[in-house]
Parts: sequence; structure tokens; C-alpha cells
Amino acid sequence: MLAVQDIHTFYGESHALQGVSFELKAGETVCLLGRNGAGKTTTLRSIMGLTPPRQGAIHFEGKNIAGLPAWRIARMGISLVPEDRRILPTLTVRENLEIGEYHRPGSTHTWTVERIFDQYPMLAELANRDGGKLSGGQQQMLAVARSLMSQPQLLLLDEPNEGLAPVIVQQIGQLIDELSATTTILFTDQSVHFALKHAKHAYILEKGRIVHGSTSQALLQDTETQHRYLSV
Ligand code: ATP
Repeated sequence: MLAVQDIHTFYGESHALQGVSFELKAGETVCLLGRNGAGKTTTLRSIMGLTPPRQGAIHFEGKNIAGLPAWRIARMGISLVPEDRRILPTLTVRENLEIGEYHRPGSTHTWTVERIFDQYPMLAELANRDGGKLSGGQQQMLAVARSLMSQPQLLLLDEPNEGLAPVIVQQIGQLIDELSATTTILFTDQSVHFALKHAKHAYILEKGRIVHGSTSQALLQDTETQHRYLSV
């Protein structure tokens, strides 16, 4: 479904991604791991078209999307939940969902506000509350749900657990497991344990390069790699 091929992404003169390549098959859930500053966010932003790569290709469903504007990439079926979630604080939960709505021609899993509320009663109970009055965990649930409103085929989640209490992290894990039945998911995280629980494959980034790629199971056994590249 997605093939990232030797991408180089810059912030001004700073060479943030230095030849990143990896692949994702339809239906897979994959985790990108790495310490702070390794390039995880930049990789997701490169795929989404927010920080387009200067070199390399990104094939999504067979088309090279590198360099396309983000809105076109979104319309092709990729959605990004950014690290800071971007919930609109003065809009209600329902309104935050409504602004995310987009019906992609030909999309099969059609998410509507009502279906989100059916599936996630916690959001239904908060329907009329302002986004700014939600807890961090509630905001993260809303951010993912809003992303679903654009009927994505590929969901990109940037550090969905950042700043959340362990019990909420468990709920986010459950949400990822549920969604992975219908949606291809690429998420970033710093904890190898969460990744191993919820993703079949894992890649590790270090200084803008992929330094490891394997099944999560293999990484679990490879404590040397974990110690070298991750905070464990
Ligand atoms: P984090 O967990 O801190 O978000 P990350 O793995 O997502 O880390 P990135 O945010 O992708 O890493 O950062 C990769 C590199 O690019 C780092 O060296 C970082 O300092 C640099 N960088 C990120 N954003 C910018 C920016 N807006 N301007 C300049 N350099 C940036």
C-alpha cells in the first residue's frame, strides 16, 4: 500500500531524513520507533505532504505522492493525527468531528458522526462539550475519531500516547487494535513495549535513518538493538 523510497527531507539546511525507506502492506499495523529527534514526526509529515521530501519517492496505492499538496494526499485516503492533536478548543466534540468529515468517492467504510458515537459512547456522552474542556485522553480519542471522518485507508498516528496516563494508554492501544481490523495504521512511539503489543512490524529510526526493521516479535528478542537505539 505504501512504499517510502529513499526520502531526504530538510528543514532549511538541516538534513532531517537521510534516505529513509520502508514499506507497509494493506491491513498491517506498523510502528516507527526512535528516540527524541530521530525523525519519526518528520517521516509522517513527509508522507502527509506537510514537509515534502526533497528527494526520493513515496508510492501510495501505486502513485508517487511525494511533493503533492497535503490536501490532495488527504483526499487520496491518508490521514494524520498530529502529536499535539489540534482539537479546536471552542468547538464542541460534535463540531470537531463534523469539520473532519469528507466522503472519499469509492470509500467503503463510511464513518459518520452517528457511527462514531455508536462505536465510542464515551464521545457521545461528551458530544456538546467544548474541545478545550476535554482531558488529554479524551482529546486523543476525539483526534483519532475526527481523522476517521475523512474515511482514511491509511491512518498515521504521531505518538498517540504522549503525556497520557497508563490506563489511558491501554485504551488507545485497544482503539488501535479495533481500528486495525479495517484500516492500515502507521504509528510512532518511544516505548518498545507498546509497539510490540499493537504492531506486527517495527522500524527504528536513528538520526534520520532506518537502522532496524523486523517483526515486533524479533525485536522483542533483540535486546541489544533495543538498548542501542531505544530508551528501554
Ligand atoms: P520527537 O519525539 O521529539 O517528536 P522525532 O523522532 O519525531 O522526535 P523529528 O521531530 O522528526 O523527530 O525531528 C527530526 C530532526 O529534525 C531533529 O533533529 C529535529 O531537531 C529537526 N526538526 C524537527 N522539526 C524541525 C523544525 N521545524 N525546524 C528545524 N528542525 C526541525
